[in-house]
Amino acid sequence: MTRGPRRGGLAGAWALTLAGLALLGCGSDPAPTPARAPGSSPATARATNVLMIAVDTLRADRVGALGYGRPTTPHIDELMSTSVLFEQAQSSSSWTLPAFASVFTGLTSSGHRCFEFRSSLAPSYETMAEVLSANGYRTGGVVSHVFLGARHGLAQGFEHYDEELVFVARESHQKISSPAVADKAIAWLTERANEPTQPFFLLAHFFDPHHKYQRHPGVSESFGTDTQRDLYDGEIAFTDQHVGRVLSALASLQLAEHTIVIFVSDHGEEFFEHGQRGHGKALFQETSRVALSIRAPGFEPRRVSPVVRSLDVAPTLYELLGLPGPSLPMQGASLVGLMRGAREQAPRGALLELRLKAGSAMDAFVQGRWKLIVDQSDAGLMHAGEPGLGERRTVEPRLHLYDLIADPDELTDVAARHPDIVQSLRSALDGAKQRGVAASRHFEHLAPLDLTHEELESLRQLGYTR
Ligand SMILES: [Zn+2]
Repeated sequence: MTRGPRRGGLAGAWALTLAGLALLGCGSDPAPTPARAPGSSPATARATNVLMIAVDTLRADRVGALGYGRPTTPHIDELMSTSVLFEQAQSSSSWTLPAFASVFTGLTSSGHRCFEFRSSLAPSYETMAEVLSANGYRTGGVVSHVFLGARHGLAQGFEHYDEELVFVARESHQKISSPAVADKAIAWLTERANEPTQPFFLLAHFFDPHHKYQRHPGVSESFGTDTQRDLYDGEIAFTDQHVGRVLSALASLQLAEHTIVIFVSDHGEEFFEHGQRGHGKALFQETSRVALSIRAPGFEPRRVSPVVRSLDVAPTLYELLGLPGPSLPMQGASLVGLMRGAREQAPRGALLELRLKAGSAMDAFVQGRWKLIVDQSDAGLMHAGEPGLGERRTVEPRLHLYDLIADPDELTDVAARHPDIVQSLRSALDGAKQRGVAASRHFEHLAPLDLTHEELESLRQLGYTR
């Protein structure tokens, strides 16, 4: 986004923050703690900061706070125990680029159009970092995956964007980056603590749970090293230690009480539950369900069980901070009511879309206990495993319905038993896609990136192509 700040800089941001928080306090629900103490002067007060910790490829059901039986995530669990924890959060896809584009824009894939390897988010989209930057925030990002590289458009709005850990090389899948992500994030937080005149937004993106799983001496042994599942658990535990370091630094720098902490994963990982391994191949719960929690000053910890979406994060943050958000509407909706313990009248429906490879065309819609998967993938084209949206053939849709309460592992397709539910979810799915397409018309198209041989090789090593 290239347009300038819409508000009067930092003073405007404070005024807006307070106005927004006052507005939130109008109802009978408890209001969040004001961003600065009442009566304190803007010259000395601190506004509310934002720390987003993103862990790539973290399956929700491998997190202790979400029910996993192995001690993979003690530090993340501790954060979640003091946060509002969303037990049923859905991504917008099952791989990195569209998932993060949705977190940053509040739009589905049809809305932001980041469908495949060569996609990039057009500059006209307004991201979370751009909105915060325009409202007086210092913005920093530390990222560790090629899809979060500036080349794919997700660096918009970050005044400091550290891509040093985006390894594009033959060995990229074997790199270990969590210690450096944490070091860089802590260094940036320390700078902010030393100059507390402006609020900040920091994105710390961890990548280690992604394939190929590495052994971490002193950690992996506790989970076993014989199977891919065990090694994956070890990667999560290793990453958790470094997430813990960032959270400790936030506390020791005395920033924690002034900082909203958002924890999010982009997608999960399959281990042959439905015949495949990895992600970006299907939309079953093992990749579509994500870890999501928000710790915000003034909000009591609680668990929220209705289905929510990671694209709800941006509108939630704008409401928490009292900021107006982007000039064009988002498809996500604020979670602040749920964070206060309110019940929502209508359940949220989560649209997931997957168009990663030539021939791949799969959508899903999750609402309440039901999940509809509409598969129009062309097996012949997909077999080539190449990136590309160009090739499409008309394939008769295959509809699959799962009851996520009776059958959380999605083993029994009940579409034939519930044609009415299939019809209702399909109609909702189509409506959500159409709203995304309508939103996308407000933005420019970008030509697909011309990926280098090295980038394609790196994607192959990471398991995205054959
Ligand atoms: Zn990812």
